[in-house]
Amino acid sequence: MTPYALTEFYCVDPQCDCRRVMLSVFNPVVSKGFLASISFGFDREGEDPGPYLDPLNPQSQYANALLSLVGVVLSDPAYIARLESHYRQVKEALADEKHPIHGIIARAGHPRLGRRRARRKRIR
Ligand SMILES: [Zn+2]
Repeated sequence: MTPYALTEFYCVDPQCDCRRVMLSVFNPVVSKGFLASISFGFDREGEDPGPYLDPLNPQSQYANALLSLVGVVLSDPAYIARLESHYRQVKEALADEKHPIHGIIARAGHPRLGRRRARRKRIR
């Protein structure tokens, strides 16, 4: 049996409350890259709640099969609640200007937040 890892990605725009997670599926035995990137919205009545394969991210030949498997995991309310809790933690960190997440995002080269940080530096 081959283990797969799900990596969670959240929107880092502090003004945005999209209430979504991107789950990227990884298996270092199969590939160095992500095998599937799956978008999922916490508001099940919202627009495009998913889960679906995210069209803006690369997908592998296994993506559709992995989407089915991840769909099973996403039927667990406890797992969804944990993801939603992680979403809130990220948004709370983004709302705190002193939180180290801002440095991490700037170093990762997020264009929008990187500019905002640079602007703050110039003002000082
Ligand atoms: Zn967002």
